[in-house]
Amino acid sequence: MSTLVTGIAELVTNDPEAGEGPLGTLADAALVVSGDHVVWVGAARDAPYADTRVDVGGRAVLPGFVDSHAHLVFAGDRAAEFEARMSGTPYDGGGIATTVAATRAATDDELRGHLRALVEEMRGQGTTTVEVKSGYGLDVEQEARALRLAREVTEETTFLGAHVVPPEYAGRTGEYVALVTGPMLAACAPHARWIDVFCEPASAHAFDGDAARAVLSAGRDAGLGLRVHANQLSAGPGVQLAVELGAASADHCTHLTDDDVDALASGTTVATLLPGVEFATRSPYPDARRLLEAGVTVALATDCNPGSCYTSSMPFCIALAVREMGMTPAEAVWAATAGGAAALDRGDVGRLGVGARADLTVLDAPSYRHLAYRPGVPLARALAI
Ligand SMILES: [Zn+2]
Repeated sequence: MSTLVTGIAELVTNDPEAGEGPLGTLADAALVVSGDHVVWVGAARDAPYADTRVDVGGRAVLPGFVDSHAHLVFAGDRAAEFEARMSGTPYDGGGIATTVAATRAATDDELRGHLRALVEEMRGQGTTTVEVKSGYGLDVEQEARALRLAREVTEETTFLGAHVVPPEYAGRTGEYVALVTGPMLAACAPHARWIDVFCEPASAHAFDGDAARAVLSAGRDAGLGLRVHANQLSAGPGVQLAVELGAASADHCTHLTDDDVDALASGTTVATLLPGVEFATRSPYPDARRLLEAGVTVALATDCNPGSCYTSSMPFCIALAVREMGMTPAEAVWAATAGGAAALDRGDVGRLGVGARADLTVLDAPSYRHLAYRPGVPLARALAI
């Protein structure tokens, strides 16, 4: 069963050889989907026969957004903490313990219902691939439960037992790292593709470079890919550790030294920027322009979580990246699609060419430029074919 999608005013392929500019855009385009995959892309006038037809009526079509950093398995609400921050209380990661307590007390069905609602909320804004981390259970059973639930909605599951040191291990970080790298990893690895750590010496609740190295090394030995929460609150060791260990992504990258930028430019690690966090913690934004000019691969993601950034909207992050981080609209759209795919080491999403997954996002607008040009307007949604 094949479907012709036509009436596309502007198609973003992310293949510079298929169309104009770095996004490989095609005007008056069409594509054909068979099963789950794209089997033809080109000018609408050249479109081949297909069994059915969807006319998007002169709208833009993009690869679905790839949100490569999200924390969606949780319970509870931290709106009061947000309000306190906007009244001058600084963010230091300490509020995570509030979510841990609420998450531990929730039933599977409560967590599942909330998780699925967030994934639907994301699809309604154009996101078709989402990475989901654990990290609000922080004991063996609770972390494994979070990952089992996450696996119900995505293949991109990440074990984040090393999110913060839980209250019952306060002052005993070494013992907690031994738990994370031992029994917790053994219970979680079967449900995870990735391992992650909040490497932040500037937070009393997170992990220093040595602890982060221990967590990532154990994860790698268990067959997991590596990701790092790096350099969010200070120019710590996270970015260079991520590059040294060949992590797929270093996330946040808000405070970078020249050596950090050089390391990212010379390695294979993607710099994933999360501008919703700086928005919601009223912090300085990362300098995307500096990274792009150094030749670093940049991704954009939401970091959707109940504490430091409770947005599920990739279009909002694109608008912030353009307005506040020196990215062009095309660079931001690339980072939210192909960049996210690179950060997840995926070749089948983040692009629309033959062989790609048929993950299409349609805009109620004629061009991708409207994502930044019309901030806050609900233009994007995943197209059900
Ligand atoms: Zn995060």
